[in-house]
Amino acid sequence: MQLRSIRVRLTLWYLIVLALILALFAAGIYVSMRRSLHEQLDDTVENRARLIEPLVTLDRAGAPSLDLGRDVPDSELDDEFQRLFDVSGDLVFENSQRSREVSVDPEALEQAFGGETHIGTREDGVRIFTMPVVRDGEPIAVLQSAQATDDLRETLRGLRLILLAGIPGAIVLASAGGWWLASRALSPIDDITRAAQQITAQDLSRRLNADLPDDEVGRLARTFDGMIARLDASFQRQRQFTADASHELRTPLTAIRGQIDVALARPRDAAEYQRVLATVNAQVDRMTRLSTDLLMLARADAGSMPLHREEVDVRQLVEGAAEQVRPLATEKRLELRVEPSADASVSADPDMLLQLLINLLDNAIKYTERGWVTVGWRAEPGRLLILVRDTGTGIPAEHRERIFERFHRVDSGRARQDGGAGLGLAICRSIVEAHRGTIAVESSAAGSAFKISLPA
Ligand code: ADP
Repeated sequence: MQLRSIRVRLTLWYLIVLALILALFAAGIYVSMRRSLHEQLDDTVENRARLIEPLVTLDRAGAPSLDLGRDVPDSELDDEFQRLFDVSGDLVFENSQRSREVSVDPEALEQAFGGETHIGTREDGVRIFTMPVVRDGEPIAVLQSAQATDDLRETLRGLRLILLAGIPGAIVLASAGGWWLASRALSPIDDITRAAQQITAQDLSRRLNADLPDDEVGRLARTFDGMIARLDASFQRQRQFTADASHELRTPLTAIRGQIDVALARPRDAAEYQRVLATVNAQVDRMTRLSTDLLMLARADAGSMPLHREEVDVRQLVEGAAEQVRPLATEKRLELRVEPSADASVSADPDMLLQLLINLLDNAIKYTERGWVTVGWRAEPGRLLILVRDTGTGIPAEHRERIFERFHRVDSGRARQDGGAGLGLAICRSIVEAHRGTIAVESSAAGSAFKISLPA
């Protein structure tokens, strides 16, 4: 359970790494210290032997002797001693009690008589340097200088103790330090978690607004705030959309209900019932249109707008759309013109494109009182442009960006009378985006121009 805390894991990792480093470090110190102490000891016994060697003399009978100017044997001297052997290997001098406890290494003597020095360790850890004593080119004796390693071993044991006790001590101290560091580094994350827990779907207006530097945690907090802001905006759009949709559906329902209530208040003649049913029929039409539009937008949102692509003849498509809306234009005495353009084709869903054009032409006619409405196209490298223009009321600048939003209308009162719910351009944009194209509007008091660009 505790291992699920980064703090605990960080501290543990830190301790493991530190323990390994300390162990390696301690082993290194110990090994190099031991080597250097042993080298020093070897130097000591060798130097001492070389210092004493000139003091070896031969008496008249040819027997070697050594005078160190001290009483022999010296029981005080128990960690070092010297001894001298004559050419037949017999001990002729020793200056310590300890010397008697340490056996003679015949191999060392042999090597010395052969003219070479020898260094070795005997029982009790006594280090002995053996060298020949040579006079006039002849070996006359063998000299040994010895030193007990008691002190050396004592020193190394002390060092071992310090290292073995020091490492766990250092680790305990370091673990406290590591815990403190990890806690310090991670505490902003705990703050963020607590703050994030308080942000619910109902309360997306809250932000962390953490006053953190631009480091990993600071960036996380700011990214989190950005994400909540986007969610907030998207939830608000969603709520607005639901409210608008319910409102749009309730209006025709209220109208139907009113008509029916009035009709049922008293008996009516057949013509009156017919009139009421016709009004109800119109309202049902409106609701059907609305629900079809909503379904289409919902599909587009889910990314599952079904596209049946084929090579579409643009002239045929544009002329077909113009023919469908021509009665509306004629009714308003507007000139509806298809501009002459070169033949072109595009890979697209013909039904969708038809709906797109009809929506745009329908709007153009709806919002134009006098003048003309034109539709034309132009094939450019890599894309097809379709242009729908009118000499209508134009769209005020503050609305131009928003008319493609769902339910957005410039003049809601007038537009609703004309039957629009403000979904037409939203659907246009969904269709264009499903084809990976773009749609834009330019508008002035002299009229509007909708420009669609589709990848060829
Ligand atoms: P509606 O169903 O109200 O027509 P749309 O989404 O088609 O909804 O259009 C949104 C709004 O954009 C309309 O209410 C209208 O105010 C404005 N609009 C669209 N096309 C034109 C146009 N050609 N000229 C002027 N205003 C337009």
